[in-house]
Amino acid sequence: MYAAEVIAPEEQLKFVCEGCNLEYTCVDYHTLLTSKKLAYFTLGEVEDPKSNVILPDDIIVDCLCHQCLYTALKDEAEHGTENGELKFKLIHNGMGHFSVINNERQGGFFS
Ligand SMILES: [Zn+2]
Repeated sequence: MYAAEVIAPEEQLKFVCEGCNLEYTCVDYHTLLTSKKLAYFTLGEVEDPKSNVILPDDIIVDCLCHQCLYTALKDEAEHGTENGELKFKLIHNGMGHFSVINNERQGGFFS
């Protein structure tokens, strides 16, 4: 199952989205994350859906902004599944939440 973990601003000094090159310092990212304007994610897979930890070997992309993550998962939902619906796991602060991307949901995570 796909899993996307919110990267904590404390983890790095600089963040660059591998999809669109959107770049922020950890200070700016902290502000944006707190006000729910931006989140950077690590995208990977978890073998056990109950797991809230993406193992280093299971990381697909180290750093994606929420918009690029949404685009990637939406693309996978549309082209990689039979019913256009992709279940995945969102991990934040060690807690996991199941989420679904399908055709009814528009506009990304923060809208
Ligand atoms: Zn991006």
